[in-house]
Amino acid sequence: LYGIPGDFDVVVIGGGPAGATLSALLSERGRRVLVLDRERFPRYHIGESLIPGFMRPMEELKLLDRLEQRGFEKKHGGTLVWGAQKIPWGFSFIEGGPYSYSYHVRRADLDSLILDRSRELGTHVIEEATVKEAIEEDGRIVGVRYTIRGSEEVQEARAALVVDASGQARVLGRKLTNVNWHEDMRNVAVWTYFDNAARLPGDEYTNILIEGLEGGWFWGIPIDKGTMSVGYVTASAAAAAADDSLEDLFRTQLARSSQLKELLRDARQSSGFRSARDWSYTCDRFYGPGWALVGDAAAFVDPLFSTGVALATLAGSALSKIVDKVLEHPEIEEAALERYATAYRAFFDEIRTFVGKFYDRTKYKEFYWEQAQTIVDPNRERDPREDFVTLVSGLSGRHPLFNISVDDLIAERAATAPVGA
Ligand code: FAD
Repeated sequence: LYGIPGDFDVVVIGGGPAGATLSALLSERGRRVLVLDRERFPRYHIGESLIPGFMRPMEELKLLDRLEQRGFEKKHGGTLVWGAQKIPWGFSFIEGGPYSYSYHVRRADLDSLILDRSRELGTHVIEEATVKEAIEEDGRIVGVRYTIRGSEEVQEARAALVVDASGQARVLGRKLTNVNWHEDMRNVAVWTYFDNAARLPGDEYTNILIEGLEGGWFWGIPIDKGTMSVGYVTASAAAAAADDSLEDLFRTQLARSSQLKELLRDARQSSGFRSARDWSYTCDRFYGPGWALVGDAAAFVDPLFSTGVALATLAGSALSKIVDKVLEHPEIEEAALERYATAYRAFFDEIRTFVGKFYDRTKYKEFYWEQAQTIVDPNRERDPREDFVTLVSGLSGRHPLFNISVDDLIAERAATAPVGA
């Protein structure tokens, strides 16, 4: 009864949104899953503004009521000071359906909530467990070696499949694949928190504010009553060339903003600064014999449209369906993981392509809507503005990630298997 069960179907490295969603949905199907995370939850994480695509896996996890009860701030849309147009413009998620809102969250709370749900469904979670390396035998990944905080003893966990959901740490990806950096998005962010911040007026009260200005852009996220997360993003090269520190750059640029400065007029900074840089990349491969990548461990696109957590949880959900079938039909492993990787890349590339177009700030909003239409609705069947909202909601649905299935692969293999096999 006590201690860690010896054998697992799946070992997941990292209990963030990707790893927690994947493990929860596998445990719900009766799979034996181990999650190892180097931190003790609740732990801090950046990434506080969520898009409606995130609500779909939360519905699968039956977490919608708990999200509501936690009292996270509801996010209905975005307000932008962006492009050639000087007047702010915006969008409401309701225009892109089917989820009309998402949330702004403190990630420490949200990530604990999802990981707790995974535990509740039967996942064995070990916190403060740092994965050091994968165990490879005859070209296949068969487990991981890890240590528990405070001890040097190296432990092993073996499983039929190992999933790397370790975020930007990319524990497996670093060794097993190459990373392609998105050279056009080599950016750096510096952020902090303000108390007593004012809100946008009327219907925009809980919108994220994205304010572009020469050299970079700010996010203003009203995470809860009076507290605003404020971050400045600029090109890494420009920040490195500037004489100012990142903190000074933040202050100088904030003074040059129009909308954000107004919202922060009576606010006071309530924490120190944090920063991150060079975060946009795609791994060459998303899987190999015995392993797969999910969430930031596979790919990450610049946070301009707050897509990270939605992508991580949607991919976690899709991968859970694939892994569940692979455990029962090991003969389809490669083809099934390839299907997952193709669907995930297609979804990711839509967002990445659009973010790249959006960074051209010489255009009017109609140009951005049309770019969205070209990507998600090439036959021009809908209003381009709706296409824009659907895309930035993470709900375009053109790719098969949402409804991924490998039943045809299983049927195909059964049909071609030798009689009596
Ligand atoms: P993570 O949340 O990073 O979880 C990975 C887990 O792996 C962690 O808990 C970590 O402790 C664990 N781990 C790491 N190494 C090991 C190891 N060796 N052994 C064991 N465990 C390990 N996304 C949004 O949706 N909205 C936003 O507004 C937003 N803003 C962002 C702003 C910035 C500046 C940046 C950089 C990102 C932002 N993101 C945003 C992206 C978002 O933070 C990520 O996409 C999201 O956290 C990915 O989830 P994940 O589960 O893949 O990884």
